[in-house]
Amino acid sequence: MQIKIDQIIHSRRKSVAIIIQADGKLVVRAPLRLSNAHIQDFVLSKTDWILSQQAKAASRQAPVHAFTSGDTFLFLGKTIPLEITENSARSLTLDSCFLLRSSDQPQAREIFTKWYKQQARQVFTSRVQFFAQQYTFNYSKIRLSSARTRWGSCNSKGSLSLTWRLVMAPMEIIDYVIIHELVHLEIQNHSSTFWKKVQEYLPDYKIRRTWLKEHGSLLNLGDRHIR
Ligand SMILES: [Zn+2]
Repeated sequence: MQIKIDQIIHSRRKSVAIIIQADGKLVVRAPLRLSNAHIQDFVLSKTDWILSQQAKAASRQAPVHAFTSGDTFLFLGKTIPLEITENSARSLTLDSCFLLRSSDQPQAREIFTKWYKQQARQVFTSRVQFFAQQYTFNYSKIRLSSARTRWGSCNSKGSLSLTWRLVMAPMEIIDYVIIHELVHLEIQNHSSTFWKKVQEYLPDYKIRRTWLKEHGSLLNLGDRHIR
């Protein structure tokens, strides 16, 4: 397997360091006199690590949506293709794929956002109610936010705030954020007591948390550079 080195930076340092940039590019920092052959060998010995980091970087790249046929959107963890239709009573519907009326294409982003918000409200409400009944959590209401990385929060009045973007994630991830916030109603910090409590409800919460860290940037409509 060939590993492409994008840049080698020589400097007065004693060891070799490999850096995978956010765009997946591989940069090597090396001591002044270290030969290219040595650097190649070192990089080759780290192949597995480099490939996994580059895969992560690729998955963190936010999607760019053109809102044309063939474009795909996430909903509850599923990748759903979009088709543009000429005649449709409603501007956007979800069947086995998303159907967007062609005359509504110019406002596609707003239409999708509105659709996601409606779904988010339904999904979040039913899951919060389910957990609240199951484990007797006392919350007062659910608010939708448009946050990009702050998936949820809560306040002292028992109001939960969840970003509508979260409805793009699989249900297990939504459940993790909801449990996290419900436990915060009782314990406001991130102490070991807090995490122990989260683990009581979701024994595999760490996997769900890691998923969110690695894939969180995918949960958007490709608009992070626009606003
Ligand atoms: Zn928290």
